[in-house]
Amino acid sequence: MANKPDADSAATRMRCLIVEDEPILAEMLIDTLSDAGFETTHLDRGDGVVDWVKSEDPTVVLLDLMLPGTDGFSICRAIRTFSRVPLIMITAKVEEGDRLRGFDLGADDYICKPFHAAEVAARVRALLRRSIEWREASPGSSLELDDARLEARWRGATLDLTPLEFRLLSTLGKRPGRVYSRNELLDTVYSDGRDVSDRTIDSHIKNLRRKISEVDDGDTPIESIYGVGYKFKG
Ligand code: CA
Repeated sequence: MANKPDADSAATRMRCLIVEDEPILAEMLIDTLSDAGFETTHLDRGDGVVDWVKSEDPTVVLLDLMLPGTDGFSICRAIRTFSRVPLIMITAKVEEGDRLRGFDLGADDYICKPFHAAEVAARVRALLRRSIEWREASPGSSLELDDARLEARWRGATLDLTPLEFRLLSTLGKRPGRVYSRNELLDTVYSDGRDVSDRTIDSHIKNLRRKISEVDDGDTPIESIYGVGYKFKG
């Protein structure tokens, strides 16, 4: 079992629940998804999975079909009564009927054993791209955010941001017109209270502006307020 994430990282990291009772496969999935940047939790039985998903709200679920306790089909059906979490079924059963039944019960994708680690990571990434939930940073804003996956897009174009840049842009974009001092922005992006110069923010803002200008060569939406800090324009 992975350590339970603290509240801060839970809000900003992608979390993958792996339900698999075969230790070697489970280990391979944990390694693969950890390498892909996920915080992983592993459960090796079916009972308890539904309650875990209900309380922890993971980003994505990998679910084996044949499990001690409760089988994957029943778990999938139960999860779909309260959650649209992206869910991939993993199973040794390759029969068409089982695959269709999985989709009927609400699985988003299906991987048959034996599989390659690279395939699993690629499927998870593809599924998350499809299930991304864009929300306008503020009503009517040209900036859209997916807070769960730390993805942002400006006027419809996806921005290639680091997690720190995402937090910075998200903070500014959610309250357009509000002027943030460099110190306030530092508190937002470095939650561990580390001691960095407030000029660090300037270099991150510079990178953000450059990345936005790569997809839109119009006016930058991030405005400098001399002697104070920065604000986001609409
Ligand atoms: Ca199994």
